Amino acid sequence: MGIKFYKSQEFPLEMHKVRTIQKLNLLPIDERLKAIKKAGNNTFLLESNEVFLDMLTDSGVNAMSDKQVAAMMMADDSYAGSESYKRLESKVKEFFHMDYFLPAHQGRACEHILSKVFIKPGNIVINNYHFTTAKAHMEINGGQVLELFNKDAVEPKSENPFKGDLDLDKLQAVIKSEKSNIAFVRMELGTNLIGGQPVSLKNLQEVAKICRKNNLLVVFDASLLTDNLYFIKEREKEFQHLSIKEINKLVFACADIVYCSFRKLSSARGGGIVTRNKDLYIKLRELIPLYEGFLTYGGMSVREIEAITVGLDEALDYEMINQGPQFIAEMCRMFQENNVPVITPPGGLGCHLDARAFLSHLKPEEYQAGALCSAIYLASGIRGMERGTISESRKEDGSETFANIELVRLALPRRVFTLSQIRYAVDRISWLYDNRHLIGGLKFSEEPKVLRFFLGKLEENQLWQEKLVNKFKVDFGDSL
Ligand SMILES: *Cc1c(COP(=O)(O)O)cnc(C)c1O
Repeated sequence: MGIKFYKSQEFPLEMHKVRTIQKLNLLPIDERLKAIKKAGNNTFLLESNEVFLDMLTDSGVNAMSDKQVAAMMMADDSYAGSESYKRLESKVKEFFHMDYFLPAHQGRACEHILSKVFIKPGNIVINNYHFTTAKAHMEINGGQVLELFNKDAVEPKSENPFKGDLDLDKLQAVIKSEKSNIAFVRMELGTNLIGGQPVSLKNLQEVAKICRKNNLLVVFDASLLTDNLYFIKEREKEFQHLSIKEINKLVFACADIVYCSFRKLSSARGGGIVTRNKDLYIKLRELIPLYEGFLTYGGMSVREIEAITVGLDEALDYEMINQGPQFIAEMCRMFQENNVPVITPPGGLGCHLDARAFLSHLKPEEYQAGALCSAIYLASGIRGMERGTISESRKEDGSETFANIELVRLALPRRVFTLSQIRYAVDRISWLYDNRHLIGGLKFSEEPKVLRFFLGKLEENQLWQEKLVNKFKVDFGDSL
């Protein structure tokens, strides 16, 4: 598939046109320095008008289609029994091939409810890899997160096309020793924190087989599903002849419960839990009106509900979902051309820089990914997200939990950025790589106890930021 070019090597091509735009603001570097210091070197605390290209996340910020926006104009704003909700419910059942749906306001709300219902203190929850909010909810409910990732998962450079696969031998071993203590098995499709790496359909089928035999509940986090579907089609020979829709059906045949952030999966703001099991549905249902809202909106706006319904159809359209991974792959290729260390193979969600290799002169306790995020903002006005040690929490004795893999994520929200904007990012960050010796570390000045990466503040642990700014001015002159 894909389009061939006459003169140049292949590059990704936008299969949509832009009809609404938002003007961007690129601050001069001196103002960027002030802004990042004020934000405590935490890109979550920057104001949006201080950011040029916002590559923080894909949560709730994908570009919507004309059909989604049109659907939002006709929504039924009823507290109970809304027509908009009925449309969503029937689309969700068709999409996941499951009969029972519970709405929630976003992905982490589902994690809250599932953890509260299924985890008893002391339980183990098996994960192919954890996610920040999922882990926090599991632990608050007394659970212990056990990650059974395969040997390639946290290798920055790898040829393994499915780094998100669960290690089946480890799964069998844990079932043998801990079976009665396992709350559920959570599979994240694909894995956010190791670089948007997918899970193979074969692995999902094996996990399901083992869990069914042992009466264990299988829960899928389908927030990043669309990239994963694309990778199954592109990388898993056995299933290449199937359509995205057919692959999707086989994927969900492997789960008992699925939850997701519709902020990502369907490019509109919401979340939900789906199951094929009526008893499980009834157990979970009680908590929806208590924490989220009545059963026919679950905290979502009816307009968003209409957009999600349309977004779910688009999530199975190959030409819509191939855009993200193709642009990410191109961005990784351009970085590699300039020797900038990136996670390979390219995954979904965004392009991930290997901060441990990028800033190998810094120690893990100097927060390499946090420092790199701050330096990237200084050099480019681009906002990435730290996905390393700052995104972990301290152990009970106060010592650090060093992340398995120390990443800066440059998220590419779907259909938002053009190839020239991506080239700008690669250009500035490649300059930064050649000047990496100027980048120093960070230390906390304000450190919240829970999910510290959201609101924590840090400062430079030696004076390096002004030196970096000065070098930028020497090399780029008056340029922003
Ligand atoms: C973003 C994300 C969530 C949380 O979703 P929100 O809607 O942002 O709360 C959960 N799991 C994964 C894999 C995610 O990427």
